[in-house]
Parts: sequence; structure tokens; C-alpha cells
Amino acid sequence: MLINVAAIRRAENGTGTFDLQKDFSQVSTRLEGVVFVAPVHVKIQVDNSGDSLLVRGQIKSELDVQCDRCLTAFRYPVHIDYEDEWIYAPQATEEQSETALIFDKDDIDLTERIYEQIILEFPMRFICSPQCKGLCSSCGENLNQKSCDCVQDDIDPRLAALAKWPRED
Ligand SMILES: [Zn+2]
Ligand SMILES: [Zn+2]
Repeated sequence: MLINVAAIRRAENGTGTFDLQKDFSQVSTRLEGVVFVAPVHVKIQVDNSGDSLLVRGQIKSELDVQCDRCLTAFRYPVHIDYEDEWIYAPQATEEQSETALIFDKDDIDLTERIYEQIILEFPMRFICSPQCKGLCSSCGENLNQKSCDCVQDDIDPRLAALAKWPRED
């Protein structure tokens, strides 16, 4: 994902748009069972603000993931509003270098930066639907598809521990 920002950087109020696509199917997500199944598509507008380049746009892709509750595989759409600040190295302050993308050549490879954005937006858990009932903890049945006759212990294990405490009343 290589772009050249020479014209935008040199012109006062320089601006440009980029439409990029890259195959990420061989790129690890660092999470077991989570893989890219669509190319990563990036559409951005880059504006020269004088001190830096302000970047706004969208990142789209699709992942194959496994539901954390029912273990069913499902497609998880990646749709991220991407905002960033890119700063030419000689102009960057130390503070900026912690958050902004610092570039020292007008050719910028965005692959790493875009990858980071996607990974940062991962949820704590992938859940196939907010209504997902998960698997029965006794028989393993997928409760989205069938119910089972197991007696469900509804008590949260943490509360169950509290319930055992002697009460003083
Ligand atoms: Zn599920
Ligand atoms: Zn069951």
C-alpha cells in the first residue's frame, strides 16, 4: 500500500485522495482462527494542514472468525473510520512521534499502519449475534439451534461463591 505524498506535502493546502487495495489473506491477525477473507480496501483523503497531513477515510475488509460463545464460524465485517496524522520527520516533535505516523520519504507504505488500525479495533470477543445463547455447559449442545434438557444453573459462579457466605441477620 504505497502512496506518494510529494505533491500534497509541497503545496499549500495540498490535497489528494487514494483508493488502495491489498490482499491480506497471508497476513496473520495474531489470533487463532481469525483470518482475512477479503482484501483490505482503504479509501482516504489526505490534506496538508501546514504542520502535518491530516488523513480521513475508511478501511474495509472481512474476517473469518469463530464465535466465542457458540464456536460457530461467521463472517465479521471490518468497517473502520480511519483518522490519522502524518508528519514529515524533520517537522515532528517528540510528542507527535508517539501518536502520528512519521514519514521521512514522500513514498509512504501504509500497510503496517492500516494493519495496526484493524487489530486495534478488534472486539474483546467475537460474538456471532448479541442474542447468541452459546453452548450448553453440560451437554455441549448449540443452544441457538436446539434446546436441551439439562438443568441450567443460572447463578453466576462469582455470586454462587458469595451465596455460601454465612449471613448475619
Ligand atoms: Zn454464537
Ligand atoms: Zn445441555
